[in-house]
Amino acid sequence: MKIVLLGAPGAGKGTQASRITAKYNTLHISTGDIFRANIKAGTEIGKLAKSYMDAGKLVPDEVTCEIVKDRLTWEDARDGYMLDGFPRNLFQAEELDKFADIDLCLNIDVDIDLLMDRICGRWMCTCGESYHVSMLGDSRVCPKCGKPLYQRADDNPETVKARLDTYFSQTAPLVDYYREQGKLVSVTSGAGSPDDVFVQIVKEFDKRDLR
Ligand code: AMP
Repeated sequence: MKIVLLGAPGAGKGTQASRITAKYNTLHISTGDIFRANIKAGTEIGKLAKSYMDAGKLVPDEVTCEIVKDRLTWEDARDGYMLDGFPRNLFQAEELDKFADIDLCLNIDVDIDLLMDRICGRWMCTCGESYHVSMLGDSRVCPKCGKPLYQRADDNPETVKARLDTYFSQTAPLVDYYREQGKLVSVTSGAGSPDDVFVQIVKEFDKRDLR
């Protein structure tokens, strides 16, 4: 299956992506992770991406589309993948349609009032899990694997506000784009736990016999 994962920052895309990957053995391709790896490695792409990411803005389309287009030609992407964080605007969605045949767009719908607190209180682990500070007490190690947790550089109130503005002005219209193509599946991430959201996802995937 070829899936696009859509949702506002803080909707729980990363958390659900790890669960989907574990259950369905899907290749998870996150453009945010690709940019962060480039920043860490000090590449030219990383240097360019950092200035946009720090400002909560989108990295230019030409760069981003080229990275994804290339990544989808790798052998491991032949049978399917889940794109997390791409496309993020109409231009990227239209470009993606030129080089990929997307089966489904999974949209994680979330109450916007929850987002700021969720993101600014978020601690991540390299194993793919993330936790809200309220669940951790004084500990900053991953309850699942024991590695130290970290906060993303762009998970601060100022950048989060810009990321949310970017999401609502540029990415949210993609919900209609995929609905019009008959590919949209929406699940709701309200006050429920990540497990509740995952139950909804599995139900939707099973309905369509996606595995
Ligand atoms: P994420 O990890 O998906 O929240 O992405 C973190 C940041 O990486 C975003 O705020 C953007 O600056 C950049 N980014 C990730 N994916 C894209 C994309 N498809 N287009 C442009 N910029 C992106």
